[in-house]
Amino acid sequence: MTYPRIIAIDGPAASGKTTLARRLAQALGYTFFDTGMLYRVTTLAALQAGIDPHDEEQVSELARRLQVELRTDPRTAATRIWLAGQDVTDRLYTPEVDAWVSVVAAHPGVRQALKAVQRRLALQGRIVIVGRDIGTVIVPEADLKIYLDASLETRARRRYEEARARGFDVTFEQVLEDMRRRDRLDASRDVAPLRPAEDARILYTDNLDPDAVFQQVMAWVREYDPQPGGAQR
Ligand code: C5P
Repeated sequence: MTYPRIIAIDGPAASGKTTLARRLAQALGYTFFDTGMLYRVTTLAALQAGIDPHDEEQVSELARRLQVELRTDPRTAATRIWLAGQDVTDRLYTPEVDAWVSVVAAHPGVRQALKAVQRRLALQGRIVIVGRDIGTVIVPEADLKIYLDASLETRARRRYEEARARGFDVTFEQVLEDMRRRDRLDASRDVAPLRPAEDARILYTDNLDPDAVFQQVMAWVREYDPQPGGAQR
């Protein structure tokens, strides 16, 4: 049987991309790569260096010089991000990084700087790669493109519950407002705006639990029409 070698998953925040991608990667024995981490680590580095996130030139320069390493935790198979020799993974999901990451990600210079590393990893194949512009810009040649979506309220509710579970003292209204703002920034930026690729399969997850999403996507994986060079099982 031939499976898609590169599976791209795009969609807005909290549409269910990460949960799906982890499970797919595990089921297929593929690498899981969450590209949002790269924009988050750039944001964290800018904030730590006291750089104004709006300053495109300085933030892009920082992104070009970033000493980032991606390591897989052998126990959990989760990706850990190291910045200048330090594991900063747990600092990438704070409300402060959430507040600035879409401003940083809108700078064309930042996107350009982070493109090469994403493409290099993706083209190694046997990968599930997750983001906002993977199917449209980073690897338009991906074998299977999925676009997950859900209503703003559903997504904000999920993110709110995650934030509370992480111990952050936020209200539902704050999370909803932040998500509305990020959606607007991600969808309206000039370079690589959030949108489905023309040949993406779109799935609305409002009324689907994670298992139903996984089963639907596995059906698409199985019915994949083999192209030369597909991964052999
Ligand atoms: O997926 P995650 O919530 O971690 O992404 C954080 C932010 O990074 C997004 O809101 C978006 O602004 C940016 N991003 C992006 N392109 C990607 C992945 C993330 O612009 N491929």
